[in-house]
Parts: sequence; C-alpha cells; structure tokens
Amino acid sequence: MVSARESILMMITTPVYALVIGTEILLSYLHHRHLYSVKGILQNVYLTILNASLDLLVRGFYVAVLFWVWQHRLTEISNPWAYWIGLLLLEDFAFYWLHRVDHFCRLFWAVHVTHHSSEEFNLTVGFRSSVFQPLYRFVYFLPIALLGFRAEDIVFMYSATQIWGILVHTQYVGKLGVLEWFMVTPSHHRVHHASNVRYLDRNMGMCLIIWDRLFGTFADEAPEDPVRYGLTTNITDQSPGNLVFHEWKKLGEDLRKPGPLVQKLRYLLEPPGWSHDGSSLTADEMREVMGLSKNNTRVTKKDDKLVEY
Ligand SMILES: [Zn+2]
Ligand SMILES: [Zn+2]
Repeated sequence: MVSARESILMMITTPVYALVIGTEILLSYLHHRHLYSVKGILQNVYLTILNASLDLLVRGFYVAVLFWVWQHRLTEISNPWAYWIGLLLLEDFAFYWLHRVDHFCRLFWAVHVTHHSSEEFNLTVGFRSSVFQPLYRFVYFLPIALLGFRAEDIVFMYSATQIWGILVHTQYVGKLGVLEWFMVTPSHHRVHHASNVRYLDRNMGMCLIIWDRLFGTFADEAPEDPVRYGLTTNITDQSPGNLVFHEWKKLGEDLRKPGPLVQKLRYLLEPPGWSHDGSSLTADEMREVMGLSKNNTRVTKKDDKLVEY
C-alpha cells in the first residue's frame, strides 16, 4: 500500500541516493578515509529491508487507525499553506519526542539501538533502520490526525522528511553557517551518532534542531572532542539475529536479576545504562561522574565560572 505520491518520491530519490552514495564512496576511496566497508553496507541494507517489509505489512493497520482518529478531528484547516507547513512542523515535533523516548527508555532503545550500532558513519547508515519502529511510530502522530491532518498526508510527510534525515549521515559536509541554528545538519547528526559521553542522547530532531535547543538535548560538534561513532559498548557478535536483538537479550538478562517488580519495571522504562546496583550508568550519570553538567558545561575551580566544555 504505497500511494502514487510516495512512488513518485521514490522514483526521484532513488537515483539521488545512488549518486550521492556513489560519490561519497569514491571520495572516501580517493582520500583513503575508509568510511565504507562491504560488511557495513550489507548490514545497513539488511536492516532497511527488514524495516521496510514490516512497515508495508502493518501500514494498512496504522493508516486505518490514523484515518479513524481523523474522522473525529477537532479542526479543519482549509488554507493549503497553513496545512502543509503546519503538518511539517507538527510531525517534526512529534518525531522529536518519538526519538527522544527511543533514547531515554530502555524498552524502545532496544529497538532504536540498531540505528546506532555502526562504528562507521556514512550515507548508508541513514538506511540503518530501527526495525520495529513501524509498530509504534504512528502513535506519536495520532494527535496530528486529531488536529485535522489526513492519514495519507501524515505518511507522505514522514517519507518526505526522511530524505533529509538520511542525507545528514555524512562526514563530508562541515558546518552549514546559519542553517546550524535551526536545521538538523550533518554536524548535528554526527554528534547524534557519537559514543563520546558528552554527546550521548543529543540532537534528536529529524529536520529541525529547534526542538533540541528548546528542550535541552542539543550539543554542538566540538573540534576538541572528535566524534567516535558507535555505542559506548560496541557489539562483537554481528550476526544478523544479534544485530537486531542484542539489546533485547541484555534487557532480558537484567529483567531476570533477582529483585522486586519495581526494579524490573525500572529496567524496562529507565534510560539505557540504568542499574539497580550501580554496575552500569546512564548517560547523565556518566556525565555527572565526568563533571559535565547536562548541557555540557563544566565548573572550573579557576574562577568558579561555568565554562563551555
Ligand atoms: Zn537516535
Ligand atoms: Zn542517524
């Protein structure tokens, strides 16, 4: 169930992706930067096929739910400019919260971790999907349908904004001047894929970075702290099954630890790294240990001023 508009979008974007990925592979080869590996590309293709197949399988269901909510809509937006710009802003905002919950709740992190488990960072990582996200993504879009936006437009807007979300996965574009203030740029998204403690769980936006700036999850790429891509603990077993389920396995081990029900619930719902005995730390706890505040400032003894770290 793919709409005509989405088919056209795919017909336009597929050659664009092929061109930019081909160019990046060539530049990486010529500059000896080793940004790509065959294994990495195959993993990304594998994960995007799983994700797209599941999405197609459940699309009928979530479109029907969005349609049902739209039938009970509270408003009618007749001006097409207000409609489409409103949809773009609302959906980007909803995606920010979806992505934020994916990062701050272990249950959803177990799904989203696949997007972050590559130690490479290149345009194909943009296709390294969170396989099971199509099962729950639409829930965040239900309020948008309630506000009068049609199901097929919500699905189309997600596909359209994803193009930008994919193209920011590159190390070949530096900072983009004034765009850095309000758009998610490659620099912002490099930070998002970093395992450096100061950068963990930062820059969740798809198109607009304003949500991160507003809600305290923004971090700038700092030249003194170059990004290390991947997870704080990278996976060693990269078999197809483990690639998708490794965090579920670890979560299962934590849930089997003896303790009250509330402990098990906290393992499910607290941020990744949370532990009942301090044996592992969340990103904020790690930042605290390192003397970094939540917005990456460090108190210096020198003159007792907060200094950007
Ligand atoms: Zn993420
Ligand atoms: Zn990404």
